[in-house]
Amino acid sequence: MPYNLAERILVTGGSGFLGSHLCERLLASGAEVLCVDNFFTGTRSNVEHLLDHHRFELLRHDVTFPLYVEVDQIYNLACPASPVHYQHDPVQTTKTSVIGAINMLGLAKRLKVKILQASTSEIYGDPSTHPQTEAYWGNVNPIGPRSCYDEGKRCAETLFFDYRRQHGMPIKVARIFNTYGPRMHPNDGRVVSNFIVQALRGQDITVYGDGLQSRAFCYVDDLIDGLVRLMQSPDEVTGPLNLGNPHEITMRELAELTIELTGSHSKIVHRPLPQDDPRQRQPDISRAKAMLGWAPRTAIRQGLARTVAYFEGLLADADGRLAHGPSRRPHTGSRGIAIPAT
Ligand code: NAD
Ligand code: UDP
Ligand code: UDP
Repeated sequence: MPYNLAERILVTGGSGFLGSHLCERLLASGAEVLCVDNFFTGTRSNVEHLLDHHRFELLRHDVTFPLYVEVDQIYNLACPASPVHYQHDPVQTTKTSVIGAINMLGLAKRLKVKILQASTSEIYGDPSTHPQTEAYWGNVNPIGPRSCYDEGKRCAETLFFDYRRQHGMPIKVARIFNTYGPRMHPNDGRVVSNFIVQALRGQDITVYGDGLQSRAFCYVDDLIDGLVRLMQSPDEVTGPLNLGNPHEITMRELAELTIELTGSHSKIVHRPLPQDDPRQRQPDISRAKAMLGWAPRTAIRQGLARTVAYFEGLLADADGRLAHGPSRRPHTGSRGIAIPAT
């Protein structure tokens, strides 16, 4: 799906995990990319390899403040995504989701351009139906530790649909399910990065609760393909559309697969289950299949192996730096979220 060379695409949260892959994909499609990020969880190193590209521009900016730029499309990804990060400053998380959405919608409205919102399966909360279809309204605790993210993202969806109803704007809402791959933050507490880092370091693998809770993990390349297809779809396709890989796996099974793929001698240990941790989650992607002709193609074993290879390189690099002193800028976010040393 080539982009017109004249198109300038804004990616907020562009130096984060998903954002950096999206910027790469858009550049490869021929577009100009304006990456906007406040480096809360994202890093310059995620987009370092793009900085010299003549069609790439990086702007440090917090989306809770107005942004006046000229672009042809907007992907709104800015928001910390891992529970550890979004609970670190929950008020800022809600502001980023809600005020960030208002500002980006205001920008899209002034420019009369399409805007896509990176929403989340978390809007379903701890679901009481399985698998989750877009018609399900969710089961979210409005006052728990995950609420800043869940309710912030729910309100952002409301804003997107109200801007459409009130101003006739072309909007797209993707409900993204757990996605993994290279450039996940090694210290963000998400299960895939935690397990791989622990396994590679020979540390205990921390399974929360009994490990029978499930998730369905989508490899990043597949997800980015879905986001771009959604953005390029006709205006009547607004979503919300579930984007994720329906293959469901328990955390216990994921721990065992990680041990197998890394050849690690790590042991599985159990830790308390965090409050409001969803028990089961699996996307029904019939709508995305029908409307976008999209389905994920990467099996968990294949995607996990690629992610393991990425973390092997990253940790070798970090360990080398520790042994020989810093050779280049450390992989940290603006609030000093650093790679674990041991
Ligand atoms: P990430 O933390 O790696 O990236 C988020 C990016 O947003 C970071 O670069 C961060 O610095 C930036 N950011 C945060 N607050 C900002 C602000 N106020 N102004 C400007 N930039 C800001 O997370 P990710 O996994 O890449 O997630 C990207 C988006 O996709 C998020 O909106 C997230 O909610 C959504 N999502 C991700 C997943 C997943 O599994 N990765 C699942 C569902 C939804
Ligand atoms: N906004 C922005 N860039 C623009 C246009 C608007 O950041 O190019 C912000 C602005 O801060 C505004 C918000 O988007 O508060 C919502 O804009 P909208 O036009 O919907 O509402 P209003 O300006 O009436 O508050
Ligand atoms: N989890 C785990 N060990 C870890 C980190 C997470 O067992 O070291 C569990 C967590 O309790 C949840 C699942 O893995 O049940 C997915 O957690 P993650 O934070 O990656 O995503 P989310 O809960 O937002 O889906």
